[in-house]
Amino acid sequence: MSPARKVPPDTLKKVAEDILRCEKCPRLIAHCRRIAQLRRKAYADWEYWGRPVPSFGDPQARLLVIGLAPGAHGANRTGRIFTGDASGDFLYAVLHRTGFASQPVSRCRGDGLELVDVYITAAARCAPPQNRPTKQELENCRPYLERELRLLPNVRAVVALGRIAFDAYLSILRAKGKLEAARKTPFRHGAIYDFGSDLPVLLASYHPSRQNTSTGRLTEPMLTAVFEQARRLIAGDKVGN
Ligand code: SF4
Repeated sequence: MSPARKVPPDTLKKVAEDILRCEKCPRLIAHCRRIAQLRRKAYADWEYWGRPVPSFGDPQARLLVIGLAPGAHGANRTGRIFTGDASGDFLYAVLHRTGFASQPVSRCRGDGLELVDVYITAAARCAPPQNRPTKQELENCRPYLERELRLLPNVRAVVALGRIAFDAYLSILRAKGKLEAARKTPFRHGAIYDFGSDLPVLLASYHPSRQNTSTGRLTEPMLTAVFEQARRLIAGDKVGN
């Protein structure tokens, strides 16, 4: 009998490689490629990324940020999450102000941006039409987020940007039996949920989409307050302090 083959340990690098190769959602893969071919006039000279976008950040992070999905002309163009569109401009300005990012702008891969103590991921890794992944597409992508959560041992707080990210995270807790189905965890900007000492605290925020920021539904002070609260929580403050 031949000896059992040793399975190499999972790593964040391997998760990123698997995401890059992933074709589980034909509708999204086709959409990403189509956008990359058509391009927006302002980016006509760009070679669009046009495929799944891996996560980005500090592997030792104590804070995990979950977004919705790559923007069609943002991350789907630049290949880095929240990079190259209005949502990213808004988010990284706040991350810089609260000490989580080395610079306030995120233009492209290789622009020198470094994240400190934060790791940014998404509920879906491919740009969806109308920013709306289907339930099945979100389920297809969920294992990558689950693996990242296992591989980020220091995470003490999770900021969910928008209801879809919030629900994606809760669905992982439910699947693991760590959240009773009946437990009330409504999505509300600024809400904080403490699930006990063995799980990160969850903070809910509106997504920094242009739709939310241009209408004033989400302002910079509102998002800054969420990340300031997250900083206090990862430093050991208790919820409610
Ligand atoms: S959304 Fe996720 S699961 Fe679907 S093709 Fe992209 S990387 Fe794969």
